[in-house]
Amino acid sequence: MKPSLARFSLALFVALEIALIVSMLTVYWLSSPVAKLPQAKGEQPLIAQQIENMAQDVRQTARLIARHPQTIACLKTGAEALCRTQAANIYALNEGAQIYLVPTQTVDSQAAYSAVLPEAYTHLVTPGQTQATATSSFGLTVSEPVRDGNQLLGHVVLIQAAPHLQELFDSLPLPGGYLELRQYDNAGAFTVVQRRGDENLKTSAAATLLPLADTPWKLALWPAQSHASLLSYFTVWLVLSLLLAAMVWLMQSRLRIWVSEDLNAIVGLVTDIRRQRVRSSYPVNLLEFEKPVSMLIKLAQLTVGKQKQVETEASLDHLSQVYNRRSFEARQSELFKTLTQGWVHSLLIIDIDNFKFVNDTYGHDAGDQLIVQFGAALKTHLRGSDFVARLGGDEFCVIFPNTPLARAIELAERLRANLPAVLELQRGVLHRLNWSGGLSEYSHKDTAENMALSRADNALLEAKRSGRNTTRQKAA
Ligand code: GH3
Ligand code: MG
Repeated sequence: MKPSLARFSLALFVALEIALIVSMLTVYWLSSPVAKLPQAKGEQPLIAQQIENMAQDVRQTARLIARHPQTIACLKTGAEALCRTQAANIYALNEGAQIYLVPTQTVDSQAAYSAVLPEAYTHLVTPGQTQATATSSFGLTVSEPVRDGNQLLGHVVLIQAAPHLQELFDSLPLPGGYLELRQYDNAGAFTVVQRRGDENLKTSAAATLLPLADTPWKLALWPAQSHASLLSYFTVWLVLSLLLAAMVWLMQSRLRIWVSEDLNAIVGLVTDIRRQRVRSSYPVNLLEFEKPVSMLIKLAQLTVGKQKQVETEASLDHLSQVYNRRSFEARQSELFKTLTQGWVHSLLIIDIDNFKFVNDTYGHDAGDQLIVQFGAALKTHLRGSDFVARLGGDEFCVIFPNTPLARAIELAERLRANLPAVLELQRGVLHRLNWSGGLSEYSHKDTAENMALSRADNALLEAKRSGRNTTRQKAA
């Protein structure tokens, strides 16, 4: 398929569209959220670890209190002084926490060393219950059994106050875009205890649930929208624009080659017009150039044809249709220049005998007819390389290029023998054709171009004087 500017533009347009689509897809891909949530256990986010640690600390504290000898002694004996001292020590050591020592046996002694355990926590001190639980408020409560050997004496119930946990929750780095701390009950239902981050993200992607060990909580995490950095946008833009620039450069350089080749073809055509040798086709690359170039070829062929016709007409004698005097002089000049290179040329002047008689007897038209038929006969009986011209009136001249005088004499005799003896000038008007000739040879010693012509002229005069219908020659 031939390339064209239209196709080139279309290709460029398609390429730009593709580049645009690719860049849009890339931008879309870069700006899509990327989940960065931990999958492996080792990648537990810091906030989860810290809450777990905090829960373990609370349990450890409860455990230490439960194993303390004074706690055991208090719950075993119910001695008020002992219990008061132990309670004072525990409160002094655990600021911000509420701690209950709940005996299993005697409810009476409970009031002596501690406030009554709130109703919400009573299930924690039933025998067999050792797991932590909590209310929907943000706080952690653990219970630890107090034993003396195998005997269950009671429970330590430690309620870690919300402010401490809240502080921890608020200060730790956010692993996702949004997180919820959920408290689950035994039926699997949950209450959201705390939330942080952009809640709008909650709908955008599925949450990752992280159970927090030794707590009734789970962390629900939603990933943050990870927007591509400015650098990645710039890199994509740079790569794409470089690719695009390279492609445009390649296409334009190809186009430049096509255009310059086509212009060269047109220059070639113009040069050929000047040389008058127009070819029938000049191949071009671009479709757009094809029509104007073919029109230019047609115009050029017409012009050159016309020009050739005019030139031919200008070089010919209108009556005899052999060359005219101007052409004769030009040809003679051309050949004269070759004499120095050793070339030999001859010429023959011919003058029709008694031409005036034809004019006077049969009229001027018959005289013209004699000139026409004589010219045609000369062209027919001379060699293709010989040059025939009418110098004026009834006088003709033949140049024999590359022919010495001796050979020219033979050619002149042959011509005399071959030319028709009688010509019919008009219906019924027959004329006996006689002519006189003067031969000479161009010489490199001649100082002027027409010196050979004058020698031939003298020879012609001699032929006329010697009775006409003959040829004479004059060497240089
Ligand atoms: P000669 O034998 O000595 O050559 O005598 P001629 O009768 O041929 O006379 P000459 O060659 O001296 O004269 C040629 C005449 O041809 C003179 C002129 O009137 C006549 N002539 C010149 N041009 C034309 C022409 O175009 N047509 C006709 N019909 N006659 C012409
Ligand atoms: Mg004559």
